[in-house]
Amino acid sequence: MAENSAISWTRHTWNPWMGCTKVSPACDGCYAEALMDKRYGKVQWGNAPRVRTGAHTWNDPFRWQRQAEKDGDRPFVFCASLADIFDNQVDPQWRADAFEVMRKTPNLVHLLLTKRPQNIIKLAAEAGGLPTNAAIGTTIEDQTRADINVPALLEAKAATKPAFAFLSCEPLLGPIDLTALREFNPSAKPWINALSGAVTSGGVPRNRSECGINVSTSWTSPTIDWVITGGETDQGGHKARPTHPEWFRSLREQCARYRVPFHHKQNGEWVPLQANDGEWPTDLPGFCRLSTSGERIDAGWPMQKVGKKFAGRELDGVTHDAFPKVPA
Ligand code: SF4
Repeated sequence: MAENSAISWTRHTWNPWMGCTKVSPACDGCYAEALMDKRYGKVQWGNAPRVRTGAHTWNDPFRWQRQAEKDGDRPFVFCASLADIFDNQVDPQWRADAFEVMRKTPNLVHLLLTKRPQNIIKLAAEAGGLPTNAAIGTTIEDQTRADINVPALLEAKAATKPAFAFLSCEPLLGPIDLTALREFNPSAKPWINALSGAVTSGGVPRNRSECGINVSTSWTSPTIDWVITGGETDQGGHKARPTHPEWFRSLREQCARYRVPFHHKQNGEWVPLQANDGEWPTDLPGFCRLSTSGERIDAGWPMQKVGKKFAGRELDGVTHDAFPKVPA
């Protein structure tokens, strides 16, 4: 609905409908629910009817398309920031209509970010096929969700041929290793490096069909083309959980190693607390200690809640603003 989004990784946001059901820990502090359900009462969250937006909103992409033609550029449009484009509880005709709008706005690059990547292949086919100017992405907030969602996204990339595939590691709630994912076929126990495409098992490369990746017989998997990271922010009654900068740094290093564009959106509300003369001032408001895997514990990294403005979006003094290459 926004003309120009405040989100650093997109120019516009477009919402063909509103409403969703929570499916993962990343949904706990759902911004869309806090805004559209709790604050404005425009839609009920959960197993309730979704609300299709009006003609004015559906016309927005055509205005952006005309402007993009004049400017000769290809702006990014985040589709469904107040919903999930691959939500299987929405009327399939709405998704087909939205895909038709995308096909008619070829200068726009539509970013289809979902927490339901397992639905992409089936629902895209039912909607007439994925538009060629659409990119697909999934949210992963910790290693558990990475092991489940990234292989599903890569399968969908192979099947639907998007403009590119991307990850949103926001809110990042624990460390993630994208170079050793292994959940998609537990019996074969393969390891997949989502940044290089290498697939191994027992330390040796494996054929993809042996590993249950039913897309080809080559020795590699599709890869991720863009990684976005971010912390969590307060949303209504939901208070932000801390993200340690080490988790951001690790993803930045992984991306640098495999030359994958890395975009750091913001740090959330928390920063690491500095020791004063070797003492940690544990009486500060918003103080907690964080384990390496993300739980609040008695010992570990001391963190302090300072607010999103103060925490900012620099990582080690650098703004990471990379974007992926868009095919012509
Ligand atoms: S998938 Fe997105 S829109 Fe849906 S509940 Fe989760 S955070 Fe909210």
